[in-house]
Amino acid sequence: MDYQRCFDDSIARLKAERRYRVFADLERDALRFPVALWRPEGQADAPREVVIWCSNDYLSMGGHPRVIQAVVDAAQRHGAGAGGTRNISGTHHPIVELEAELADLHGKQAALAFTSGWVSNLAAISTIAQLLPDCLILSDALNHNSMIEGVRRSQCERKIFDHNDMAHLEALLKQAGTGRAKLIVFESLYSMDGDIAPVREIVALAKKYNAMTYVDEVHAVGMYGARGGGICEREGVMADIDIVEGTLAKGFGTLGGYIAGNANIIDAVRSYAPSFIFTTALPPTVSAGATAAVRHLKTSSAERALHQQMAALTKHALKAAGLPVMDNDSHIVPLMVNNADLCKQASDMLLERHGIYIQPINYPTVPMGTERLRITPTPRHTQAHVADLVEALADVWTTLRLPFVEAKVVPFRPAAALEAHCVYPDMKRAAE
Ligand SMILES: *Cc1c(COP(=O)(O)O)cnc(C)c1O
Repeated sequence: MDYQRCFDDSIARLKAERRYRVFADLERDALRFPVALWRPEGQADAPREVVIWCSNDYLSMGGHPRVIQAVVDAAQRHGAGAGGTRNISGTHHPIVELEAELADLHGKQAALAFTSGWVSNLAAISTIAQLLPDCLILSDALNHNSMIEGVRRSQCERKIFDHNDMAHLEALLKQAGTGRAKLIVFESLYSMDGDIAPVREIVALAKKYNAMTYVDEVHAVGMYGARGGGICEREGVMADIDIVEGTLAKGFGTLGGYIAGNANIIDAVRSYAPSFIFTTALPPTVSAGATAAVRHLKTSSAERALHQQMAALTKHALKAAGLPVMDNDSHIVPLMVNNADLCKQASDMLLERHGIYIQPINYPTVPMGTERLRITPTPRHTQAHVADLVEALADVWTTLRLPFVEAKVVPFRPAAALEAHCVYPDMKRAAE
C-alpha cells in the first residue's frame, strides 16, 4: 500500500478538474475594509493592496467600532478562552447574554449558541428529527451541506423537494399524512443564486399538514427585517416558524452559530446533541462581539439600507456594462462564467492585474457548468470601488473572450443613503 500516493493522486484529480482551491493570504484592515493586504505565494515580504469583493462579512460588522470594543473589553475582563464545554465550566455570562439577545431577535423563548453555523445545523436537525418518532424530513434540494449532514446524521427517512417548489412539497406532505411527524428544512435565502424562499407558503403548508418548520436564515440575519431578524421577520412569519437557525459569522461579523425556538426544543437539543455537549463553548470575546453586533443591528437600519443600495448599484453597473449578472431579489451578485477553468482564470486575473479579490465558485458548491464569481457588496464599498470593479471585469471579460450580454441601460437613482456614505463615524475619526 502506497499511502502517500493516495493523497497525491487525490490532489492531482482536483487539479485536473480545475477544482483545486488556492487560498489567498489576506490581511484585512479593520479601518480600511474592503481594502486588504495580499501576500502572493512566495512573496510574503512584498504585500500588495487589494479590494475584497467576496466577503461574507456582509455588513462589515467585523470591523464595526462597537463590536471591536466589545471584543477588546471582554478579552481584558475575562481572558481569551471559554475554559471548557458548556457542561464543564464553559457557560459564562457573555454567552448567556448572547443567547438572550438572539431569542429576543427572533421572538422565541430560548436560543442556543454553537461554535459555528455548520455545527448548529448538524446538531439541531439531527437531534430534533431523532427525538420525533418515525420522523420524515422534507428537505429543499438546494439546502446547504451542513443541513444535509444534519439530515443524514438523524438516520430518519428523508425526501427531497425540488427547490422552492411548493406543489412538490405539498404532494410529499399529503403523501405522508397529517398523523406522521414531519420536519420541513429549508433556507430563507440561498447564497449562491441569491433567491428567496416562499416562506409564507411554506408556513401555510406546514400548518395545513401539521409539520414542523426549520429554517436556515444564515444569509439573512442582520440584513433583512426591521430588527435584522431575517426574511421571516420581513415576511411577518417569525412566530409561525418552529426553529430558526443562524450564524454569527456573516451579517454579524464574528463567529458561531445558533438556533432559537420554544424553550423545550432548545433544552432538548442542549441535552441530547453530542456536537453541542462535547465541544468547548464560544469564548467570552466572541460572544460579547456577537452580542454587540446583534444589539446594534436591532436598532440601526443604516447598514441594512446601505447594503441593499450598494448591491443594487453594483448589479446595475455590471448590467449596464453587459456583464452576465444572474437576477435575484437579494444582496448577492452572481456573475456567471459557466466554466471552471475560465472562472479560475478570471479570478486570478482580477487579483493579479487589478488588485480585486473575488474567489471563484466551483463544483461542488454549485453545479458543474454554472461556475461563477460571487460578488458581495458591503456598506463600505464606495461608488469608486464599483467603477473600478466594472472596469476590471470588462478587461477580464475581453481578455478571456468571455461572452458579454446585451447591456441594460436603465437610469439608476441612488437614494439618500448612498450620499451619506460612511456609517462608521467612529471608525472614520480614528482613521483621520
Ligand atoms: C455558511 C453557511 C452555514 C454555516 O455557517 P458558519 O457559521 O459559517 O459555520 C450554514 N448554512 C448556510 C446556508 C451557509 O451558507
